[in-house]
Amino acid sequence: MDIRFDGKRALVTGAGKGIGYGIAKALAAGGAETFALSRTQADLDRLKAENPDIHTVCVDLADWAATKKAVEKLGSIHLLVNNAAVVNVTRFLEIEEAEIKNIFEINVHAVVNVSQVVSKGMIARGKGGSIVNISSIAGRIAIGNVPVYTASKGALEMLTKAMTEELGPHQIRVNNVNPTIVMTEMAKIVWSDPAKSGPLLKRTPQGKFAEVKDVVHAVMFLLSDKSVMINGVSLYVDGGVTAV
Ligand code: NDP
Repeated sequence: MDIRFDGKRALVTGAGKGIGYGIAKALAAGGAETFALSRTQADLDRLKAENPDIHTVCVDLADWAATKKAVEKLGSIHLLVNNAAVVNVTRFLEIEEAEIKNIFEINVHAVVNVSQVVSKGMIARGKGGSIVNISSIAGRIAIGNVPVYTASKGALEMLTKAMTEELGPHQIRVNNVNPTIVMTEMAKIVWSDPAKSGPLLKRTPQGKFAEVKDVVHAVMFLLSDKSVMINGVSLYVDGGVTAV
């Protein structure tokens, strides 16, 4: 399946590392004028050095006003990937208010903020668009040692559906991609100990975790016109673990 994004402008949040980095590179390789947003300048400098065509935007998504301003400055965006997220390992009985606030600000509030700016532009242009939210298997199954993260992905699942309902009439599609473990820096915080990741691996029908490219391929499909009637779905890239 040949997927190209020539003539399209794309924005990827959390593109400084991991999955977002891979998505930004793939979009640029597919011909999209690509904007990579993240909060650590050194990561963006590395991305830019490797991919000079990619534009970089350094902003902290936890800052609503600064994020809104930065995204408004970009102008037309046809393809949006809300990928940035944070995680914290804790037990439910030990969750603190600051942790909930921080995780929800980035994993949920920022998705609303960035998507509002982008979809208002899409509506004004009248030509539709595609938004992919990077959720998780945690959007469907409880992951014990990350209860706030799990709750934030549950919220994202329903936010995507709510967005679908309101934006669909404008031909703006909104879908989730839900990976299992991909050994990025985030995953290492939670899963680097095989004693923790082992049971999930054992339950996975395909017997392996995902790689960045597996997630990237799903995102490219949902961003592209090949999925033009697919709207409001959660596409699990999980080797079957949530199916059994
Ligand atoms: P990483 O931690 O490797 O990368 C996340 C990126 O998001 C980093 O560049 C980070 O920047 C950026 N980011 C985080 N907070 C902010 C912020 N406040 N403002 C701007 N940028 C920010 O994560 P992954 O690549 O692993 O995860 C990407 C997505 O995939 C997330 O939505 C995650 O929930 C989801 N996912 C990941 C899985 C996995 O196993 N890796 C499994 C299931 C879902 P910085 O480092 O500077 O903070």
